[in-house]
Amino acid sequence: MSNDAATTDVLVVGGGMAGLAGALALKENGADVTLVEVAPAFGEVGAGLQMAPNASRVLKRWGLLEKALEIGVQPKHLVFRDAVTGEELTRQSLGGEFEERYGAPYVVIHRSDLHRILLEACQEAGVTLVNDVLVQRVETEGDKARAYTASGDVYEADAVLAADGLKSSLRGGVATDGPVSSAYVAYRGTVPITPETPAADLEDVIVYLGPNCHLVQYPLRKGELLNTVAVFKSASFERGEEQYGGVDELEAAYAGCVPAVQEALKNLATGIRWPMYDRDPIENWVSGRMALIGDAAHPMLQYLAQGACQALEDAAVLQDATQGLVFTDGRVNPSAWEAAFSEFNGARAARTARVQRTARIWGESWHVDGVARVLRNMLFKSRGDNNFQYNDWLYGRNEPGVPAEVPAASAGSARGSLVEA
Ligand SMILES: Cc1cc2nc3c(=O)[nH]c(=O)nc-3n(C[C@H](O)[C@H](O)[C@H](O)COP(=O)(O)OP(=O)(O)OC[C@H]3O[C@@H](n4cnc5c(N)ncnc54)[C@H](O)[C@@H]3O)c2cc1C
Repeated sequence: MSNDAATTDVLVVGGGMAGLAGALALKENGADVTLVEVAPAFGEVGAGLQMAPNASRVLKRWGLLEKALEIGVQPKHLVFRDAVTGEELTRQSLGGEFEERYGAPYVVIHRSDLHRILLEACQEAGVTLVNDVLVQRVETEGDKARAYTASGDVYEADAVLAADGLKSSLRGGVATDGPVSSAYVAYRGTVPITPETPAADLEDVIVYLGPNCHLVQYPLRKGELLNTVAVFKSASFERGEEQYGGVDELEAAYAGCVPAVQEALKNLATGIRWPMYDRDPIENWVSGRMALIGDAAHPMLQYLAQGACQALEDAAVLQDATQGLVFTDGRVNPSAWEAAFSEFNGARAARTARVQRTARIWGESWHVDGVARVLRNMLFKSRGDNNFQYNDWLYGRNEPGVPAEVPAASAGSARGSLVEA
């Protein structure tokens, strides 16, 4: 090992939701954590984010839920409508029985707000945060990992968390796959809510389901902003064009939809288009002293609104798996990593694979036409409010792979306290 390498117990690569959450979890467990991010500043591009109770429970256990609620919105209902007729198909009330059952609220929040809450928590906990660092490769040998950066610097760590997102290059250490295009493209936008904003449904998450398209709307920032996401299948992708899914296709995709949907397209920022990708699930996320987390491990289509939620779950399970990482004299137990990464990977891979696969199928059911649409609508309409049979596996507290609501040590687990003698 070279003498000029920067050393740290844990190196986190990537400062998105997954990297920040993972860094916070490991720092809370006593490790010395450095997080490096390629962008010149920390932040999130995009608009709103839905945080289901399986994620808000994690914020609650970290003492961050109050901050999210101060700036976010607790929508009253999740409502599905047919985009061609406007007819309501089904709704789920998100307060009362729902919140009680899942132990935390459903919150919608601006991405940049959630990112800031996690960033500030990392800063307060003492995570070392470094921008302008592009990690090109990680070598893991024995009980050390080394990360090599584009500027020629080297970081040496006992463990590396690869949180480098959908296009993760570090995933190459465990798999040879690549992102899979869904042929769908998203446009997003947030606009101020004014007296002129159509009043209908402003307290809810509304999903309009159309043939080969859908549109989602919900309020943000205490009801000051309206978030809109339009997602449609691109004909030019199917023709093999590289820059598929332009604004002309966007407008054409919604031509058969009700006026409320067509009007909502005006709220989109059309300067950035977001082609929708995921990857096939993989079982192994670990190579020696490096583990994948978040989208690097399990990128998914957004139909279940779970990508960031699953990243938070990852971090909380990793936190439980790394209890007892640090000795009371401050040294990190070097043999803890192998067992901890194996426990983390073992607990999480099957659950996130199910979310990835279900997101694909759920999205297909949204975009059908003809007989399939008639049948889909009949099925949705037959479902009553507070029928939890389709939600429990995703939002429930005791499902396999779901983190404890309080850290394992506080829950009196057999793993013992945060620090061990
Ligand atoms: C349209 C849309 C709607 C969505 N809605 C929801 C929702 O409602 N709820 C929800 O939970 N999820 C949602 N998601 C998913 C969610 O946005 C992602 O799952 C989540 O942001 C992934 O976080 P991440 O940290 O794993 O990856 P990223 O956010 O991609 O972060 C990766 C970070 O790593 C950095 N990086 C990459 N490579 C390197 C390198 N080599 N060296 C250093 N730094 C590097 C990048 O700059 C980036 O900052 C949605 C996604 C989309 C596209």
